[in-house]
Amino acid sequence: TVKSRGKNGYDFFDPTMEAKSLERILMENELRKAIEQEQFQIYYQPKIDIATDTLTGMEALVRWVHPELGVIPPNRFIPIAEETGMIIALGEWILRQACRQNKIWHDQGYLLKVSVNLSARQIYQKDLVEMIKQILAETELAAEWLELEITESIFVKMEEATAVLQQIRDIGIHISIDDFGTGYSSFSYIKSLPVDTIKIDASFIRDIHHNQESQAIVKAIVTIAQSLNMNVIAEGIELNDQAAALQQNGCDHGQGYLFSRPLATDDFERYLRKDQVS
Ligand code: C2E
Ligand code: MG
Ligand code: MG
Ligand code: MG
Repeated sequence: TVKSRGKNGYDFFDPTMEAKSLERILMENELRKAIEQEQFQIYYQPKIDIATDTLTGMEALVRWVHPELGVIPPNRFIPIAEETGMIIALGEWILRQACRQNKIWHDQGYLLKVSVNLSARQIYQKDLVEMIKQILAETELAAEWLELEITESIFVKMEEATAVLQQIRDIGIHISIDDFGTGYSSFSYIKSLPVDTIKIDASFIRDIHHNQESQAIVKAIVTIAQSLNMNVIAEGIELNDQAAALQQNGCDHGQGYLFSRPLATDDFERYLRKDQVS
């Protein structure tokens, strides 16, 4: 296994016994309750074909709607869910919810792929593949309409992770590698990964319209993706100039506030009705 640690220094598989703050203990208890009581909502952010300005799919993004504290963003509770193992139950709930909702949209005639974020921890859960198959069967969503977004952090155990991804792909589910370019060894291992799509991290998009280095990086990622038969999508597009720079460098797919923020189910449905879905 790789020796490197997360930014805050904890070891993913062997949490150090740091004294927990009271706030943290309260948070964990609240999160446990929240999972039991299903205090979560899935928001959906459109994925766009920039060239034709059409919707190609959507990413499911979880929000915790706490009865007193209001909406808590995922960056504040997903890491806790991961460290405590609660992500296993929460992740299953999110996947079921997203597949169920996508099936509803399919039945309404909107044939779109839903992308669901998967934590590293979930990749190493014993029954992941069975759980996914079960959810697809139960929701009657065909595998081709589901995509799972993973990050490079899942490759702490390279062979194990690759084997799991291979099984997932064998079902017909697409795999996308999220936040691409932020890991330390992206280019050296990308060729051996069972991945369909590379999602270029927002940090390269932020300044792409006036930074030649970011342009060069995007161009390089696009070139590599093409030679490996993978798709490319950019995340965090906020400006027209960024979208234009992406297209100039060969990236036609994107996601970001320029097109739409993540939307609650009702709002996403309104968006669907207005959009020309092919
Ligand atoms: P991510 O998967 O890389 O998702 C992209 C994040 O960027 C989302 O934040 C999205 O709302 C935000 N975003 C989208 N467009 C723009 C833009 O134009 N500008 C800016 N500044 N931000 C934009 P969000 O929803 O807060 O999620 C943050 C992270 O939390 C996600 O990053 C993902 O790693 C994690 N996450 C969210 N939902 C889930 C989930 O259901 N399961 C798991 N395991 N992780 C999740
Ligand atoms: Mg994602
Ligand atoms: Mg991302
Ligand atoms: Mg991210």
